[in-house]
Amino acid sequence: MVGAVKSGEQLCRACGLCCDGTLFDLVRLERGDDAGKLQALGLPVSISRGKLPVARFPQPCSALCEDRTCRLYAERPWQCRTFECQVFKDAQAGRITFAAALPLVKHARRRADHVRRLLRELGDTDEHRALGERFHRTSERMESGHGDEAAKAKFADLSLAVHRLKLLSQNRFYTRNEAPSPGKSPPPTAAETDFKPDP
Ligand code: SF4
Ligand code: SF4
Repeated sequence: MVGAVKSGEQLCRACGLCCDGTLFDLVRLERGDDAGKLQALGLPVSISRGKLPVARFPQPCSALCEDRTCRLYAERPWQCRTFECQVFKDAQAGRITFAAALPLVKHARRRADHVRRLLRELGDTDEHRALGERFHRTSERMESGHGDEAAKAKFADLSLAVHRLKLLSQNRFYTRNEAPSPGKSPPPTAAETDFKPDP
């Protein structure tokens, strides 16, 4: 798709990084989200173990469609309804143009695709898992002595590629902490990242 991008909706249709396992490993449900209903709609909601159980579902999200729209748009959970990445916010607020936002999104997608390719070449073909989780798993495998010299060199490339993706994500996508001002809510906490590429 994507010729001229002139709105946040069009930008997101060119992106999908906050739903496809690039920026986040999972989405946590909040009070007010109906876990049972979301499960019935096909989201694989599970409850974490621990003292404070948390309902969550993994990314890449099963509700993300080929055209990067959300199959559950009308029913999507609170985090999904409130999250806007920094690029989106900057474009909506006119701090950058949508024309300038689009290359950023495309650049991040290329970096994520590069990470996916290296993961596949190192034997991780599990495209249904988030990138952070896949990298973590591959790191553990490599650090346990798996792989010849060529694989080790590739793993070094992967580590660098993940690092560069993480930097770009932190600098341009995860929302900055803004001081709440009167009449304005604090920014949503959906930017909490479970991306954990560095061992
Ligand atoms: S990461 Fe930002 S631009 Fe991309 S889909 Fe999410 S909100 Fe939209
Ligand atoms: S429910 Fe929709 S908005 Fe939320 S992560 Fe899944 S595809 Fe994205």
